[in-house]
Amino acid sequence: MADLNTDVRYIKGIGEKKALALNKLGVFTLYDLISFFPRKYEDRSRFVPIALAADGESVCIRALVADTPRLTRVRRGLDLVRFRAVDDSGMVDITYFNQSYVKDNIQRGESYVFYGKMEVKGSKRAMTNPVYEKEDAEGGVTGRIVPVYRMTAGLNQKTLMQAVRRGLDLCGGELPEILPEPVRRRCQLASAHYAYENIHFPRDFEGLELARNRLIFEELFVLACALGKIRGERVREGGIPIPGRDPEEFWQSLPFSPTGAQRRAVRQALEDMSSGAVMNRLVQGDVGSGKTLVAAALIWAVWKQGLGSAMMAPTEILAEQHFETLSGFLAPFGIRVGKLTGSMGAKAKREVKAALKNGELDLLIGTHALFSEDVDYPRLGLVVTDEQHRFGVRQRSALIGKAGKPHVLVMSATPIPRTLALIIYGDLDVSIIDEMPPGRQKVDTFAVDESYRTRLNGFIRKLVTEGRQVFVVCPMVEENEDLPVALKSAEEHAKELAAVFPDLRVACVHGKMKPKDKDAVMAAFVRGEADILVSTTVIEVGVDVPNAALMIVENADRFGLSQLHQLRGRVGRGKHKSWCILVSDNDSEEAKARLSILCKTSDGFKISEEDLRLRGPGDFFGSRQHGLPATHLADLGGNAQVLQQAQQEATLLLREDPDLNAPENRALRDRVELLFRQNADSFN
Ligand code: ADP
Ligand code: MG
Repeated sequence: MADLNTDVRYIKGIGEKKALALNKLGVFTLYDLISFFPRKYEDRSRFVPIALAADGESVCIRALVADTPRLTRVRRGLDLVRFRAVDDSGMVDITYFNQSYVKDNIQRGESYVFYGKMEVKGSKRAMTNPVYEKEDAEGGVTGRIVPVYRMTAGLNQKTLMQAVRRGLDLCGGELPEILPEPVRRRCQLASAHYAYENIHFPRDFEGLELARNRLIFEELFVLACALGKIRGERVREGGIPIPGRDPEEFWQSLPFSPTGAQRRAVRQALEDMSSGAVMNRLVQGDVGSGKTLVAAALIWAVWKQGLGSAMMAPTEILAEQHFETLSGFLAPFGIRVGKLTGSMGAKAKREVKAALKNGELDLLIGTHALFSEDVDYPRLGLVVTDEQHRFGVRQRSALIGKAGKPHVLVMSATPIPRTLALIIYGDLDVSIIDEMPPGRQKVDTFAVDESYRTRLNGFIRKLVTEGRQVFVVCPMVEENEDLPVALKSAEEHAKELAAVFPDLRVACVHGKMKPKDKDAVMAAFVRGEADILVSTTVIEVGVDVPNAALMIVENADRFGLSQLHQLRGRVGRGKHKSWCILVSDNDSEEAKARLSILCKTSDGFKISEEDLRLRGPGDFFGSRQHGLPATHLADLGGNAQVLQQAQQEATLLLREDPDLNAPENRALRDRVELLFRQNADSFN
């Protein structure tokens, strides 16, 4: 007997070869098969009398074949089968190209349903290569909404459709209902059986809509339960309580006042840390919003409690900058700060490790060297990671795991729309810093095309003469990339600039360099030892060069808006008036509209929302790791409302049954566990 776990190779019509092709699509069991949802649908449900079909319209006609199909061989490789079909309203000439077998399958005097595009020329009507079936078999591939699946070699739509049909017939009825009854009622969701049936073979568009709603909800609900479970487990692990400290003493030590948003983030984190549970908090704020200060306040609070902190940065240069900034903030209290990076000499490393072990350091800042090496933290209370999406989720868990049960603060400038942050960081609490420190100057932004090149070079010259530095960013060029326009690599562009400005110091950082060499070039630029730095996006994350006043982005249309916004955040960090110039020769309306958004606003959230709207979430994240399994139906950006609902319901359910042990939640637990198994990499 077949059940949901039966291998697809045992269904009728699927042999060894087709089973292998299905495997390539990720389909192994009957459950996988019926969960392999269509990519889109073709509406073949509309029947029209021949004479009423408009030119270019795709329709079904019910017609009698009026003459014997004739096979003509026009030349080698071109066969035609032609015949005429009629209904009460008129007639149509039907032609099949290179499908000579049609001649034997279609009989004069019989009625068929044909689905295809009607071509009308004067009083003549014609269809080319229409899909057909006998009138009495109608409802197979015509007369209905037909699913269209993602394909691979060795399969075709019809085979896959029939296999899914068999799969549903065999075990559609066995599908466990994983959504609790009250949830289904509250959210008005169709049953599992109805949804799986109608997502493949919708009865009508209303049925399809009901099916989609249910399955999107289901997907997000399972995801939310999975993330909620992780959080539940972590919370129950318990953390070292850091009694609620009033941070006023720390704020008083600063040369400026914290913003309201910084105060709020610190208050939220202090509440977490004093609760007795372990903190997992994300501080998300636009570039320049002052996240480092939030970390400093917490490091201070932890230190007050006699505990140490560690801070992990994705690059050496960022570690260096954090070391300097934080040393400054923390020095008034005598908090001892150390640094550990991969490029340090063996002796220096040994000394830092020894100092840490002996309790002579209160804060250690570094790259992932912090945790990959034999570093001993005798009394670690807090781990801060900066720009953690750069690390990958596995590193993050290695870091937290190795250090016992410290509180965790994650800082990120990636401006993810609020609704998305909820699910992406579903296992983290989120503080959003939505306020800039006062006096932050706006970076004037312009989009220009090649015709401005001479003026642009003149502008570079002027700023460098005034003592400023310039960033130039080029898109990453993959070697095998076939592009309509030739893109300049960073290296090539640097050579050109060096030729234009023989007397200026032009440095270059690109993807093929070793991290150590990249860091060396960056560090030299920070020290002011180069005037122009040409690079790929390696400078995207928070490097601070207050003297840089101009950011030029070449082929700007090749970047995401949020990415451009991050790049722009590299300038305007000092006292100098700063500019961002987006160079692009792409004159499509869409490209222009996108770039103009950047010229108009400097609000990272607004930009990311626009970006999401224009590009969709798939592109929004690109290859960037966000630590979530891919969703099949749900669009993490577009289904914000469902997302929120699913999140809410998951929270409610987990509050009642944290481990999903209740008998009525077993099926749901199995699904959550399946998700964990399939995405072992995403969840730590
Ligand atoms: P990011 O959020 O991008 O990491 P930083 O923490 O690097 O931002 O802060 C950017 C700059 O703003 C730093 O020079 C920092 O000292 C300064 N800063 C932070 N908070 C304030 C504040 N409340 N008032 C004035 N300047 C601030
Ligand atoms: Mg920063």
